[in-house]
Amino acid sequence: MSTSSDQVATLSGPTAAELRPAAELAPRFPLTANASPAAADAHAQVMDHLTFGVAFTDHMARASWTPAEGWHAHRVGAFAPLTLSPAAAVLHYGQEIFEGLKAYRHDDGSVWTFRPGFNAARLNASARRLALPELPEEDFVASLAALVGADERWVPEAAGSSLYLRPFMIATEPFLGVRSAHAIEYLVIASPVGPYFVHGFQPVAIWVAQDYHRVGRGGMGAAKTGGNYAASLLPQQEAYAKGFEQVCFLDAATGTHLEELGGMNVFVIDADGTVRTPSLTGTILEGGTRASILQLLRDGGRTVREETIALTELLEQIRSGEVVEAFACGTAAVITPIGRLAGEDFDVTVADGAPGQVTTELYTTLTDIQYGRREDPHDWMYRLV
Ligand SMILES: *Cc1c(COP(=O)(O)O)cnc(C)c1O
Repeated sequence: MSTSSDQVATLSGPTAAELRPAAELAPRFPLTANASPAAADAHAQVMDHLTFGVAFTDHMARASWTPAEGWHAHRVGAFAPLTLSPAAAVLHYGQEIFEGLKAYRHDDGSVWTFRPGFNAARLNASARRLALPELPEEDFVASLAALVGADERWVPEAAGSSLYLRPFMIATEPFLGVRSAHAIEYLVIASPVGPYFVHGFQPVAIWVAQDYHRVGRGGMGAAKTGGNYAASLLPQQEAYAKGFEQVCFLDAATGTHLEELGGMNVFVIDADGTVRTPSLTGTILEGGTRASILQLLRDGGRTVREETIALTELLEQIRSGEVVEAFACGTAAVITPIGRLAGEDFDVTVADGAPGQVTTELYTTLTDIQYGRREDPHDWMYRLV
């Protein structure tokens, strides 16, 4: 059983104050400007109709790696299709990792990102698990600074919007033998995105998967890798068909306790104000949003527990009113209130299905920090432009 004694080390990268300024880092990825960037009307069409992950900016950042050369050819160039051998290892064995973070426009026009040092550290933790080369943390931040510097006009201004940044690393060596590849590419692409909640908070209905698991002990659960997402697609599709928006996965070893959603961590709040989230046992991806929420709650003097959350106990606590709120969290949606939890033999409504007070407060505090409307006592915000 997972108990708090199984707690794995949490990620810690440099804070924004510990990183060199963007103006110093960005030149590490020299820019060759896109010769045919999107025309003004095409740009306006995208920026006036923001969705998630559909439209991309004019540029992408990139670096290459081989065992002999290490990381080299750091650059920013035109966003363009990749040229890849059909034998590229990533296409066959899934040697791939990614990250997700956002660039936020503040009221004074400046552009900032949230805890890039955390994401840099997480990329490298994922890299180690997938036998990929680590990227120096400052080069990771440099790639974001260079790309957002080149694509500043794609950082939206509308309330709640942002430029979503997607760094990723892939094995490009054309080789069908099974070993870690000898040619790797690191890239960053960017997509202007609208607020996730156009009509404010909308509590979602969650299906608890009992027949499928996304990861197992010793697997890749603590790494941010496409393979884990591939494992979540079929359960996700089946849940959609039943009328649910998201799937919550249970631990594969016992099938008794909550781990996380396909791409979001999960929290529950007790009637006495205690906040609980599943502990990091190696099968859960440590979210930057999760880590930040824990910090904000501790700052506020709240009781916070990272522990095993048993499904049967939780259902009982929701029914009896001992658990009064639940939410999922991640960079894309920030915080998603959970209004309903159902599985093969249960179906419960959390509180009255409306977003709770603590959930709403956390959402406001976190987004206020990200958009520069509130003090940032932990040096989370890093200025890109
Ligand atoms: C990315 C991700 C999260 C959320 O991480 P954030 O850093 O908060 O965006 C949670 N679970 C999984 C499986 C993820 O891939």
